[in-house]
Amino acid sequence: MGAHPDDETFASGTLAKYVDRGHRATIVHATRGGKGHWDIPSYELRQIRTGEMTKAAKILGAEVMFLEFEDASVPQGDTLREAFVDVYRKLKPDVVLSFHPLVGRDDHRRVGEAASDASLKSSLPLHVTDLPSHRPEPCIYFFGTPISGQEPDTYIDITDYMDVKIKSFRQHASQWQEWGKTPVDQGDFTERLIERYTHRFRELGRKAGVGYAEAFISRSGRKYAHDLFP
Ligand SMILES: [Zn+2]
Repeated sequence: MGAHPDDETFASGTLAKYVDRGHRATIVHATRGGKGHWDIPSYELRQIRTGEMTKAAKILGAEVMFLEFEDASVPQGDTLREAFVDVYRKLKPDVVLSFHPLVGRDDHRRVGEAASDASLKSSLPLHVTDLPSHRPEPCIYFFGTPISGQEPDTYIDITDYMDVKIKSFRQHASQWQEWGKTPVDQGDFTERLIERYTHRFRELGRKAGVGYAEAFISRSGRKYAHDLFP
């Protein structure tokens, strides 16, 4: 569960691994990222980022769903949570990966909070929406270091999926060029960004004793769904 196309890059190795092991993975973003650029008009940017997201997801073998909220204006509270309740009731996920509700920019925090709060409510039959309730409630994991600044309790070995992770990451080209515009050569900037991105997961892998890893924080503080991880 993310806010913008490219938010899945925090967990894309795990998604690719799930798919490779025969599971179904769906990337759900609250917006199409229509504010994530300095020059491109919003309507055009939404189209560009939808296309980038579609290609990135295809590489991972995941499906994509957009909830059509406005970038930089993701609502707080009931509206977003209820949208997520219906996503859970529709997709019936075993595991949900999302942002930590207390850390980072507002869109990300709000998505993390709604992803967490929708978990129980999606399982309650008396919480009536257009879709029937789904049990058991999905297990919630938040993206770990460095995005959350909190120590992870769960590491997923993604060593065999780094190539596909990087290839998928590259598809979000509108985002990786934007921040390189002012300083210098865009191409170099993108490659430096990918080096840093690779380094981050190598460091997490070092902590986990594997080549490359992604790290998560269990909402409940215990590894209750550990056997659900690939
Ligand atoms: Zn984002």
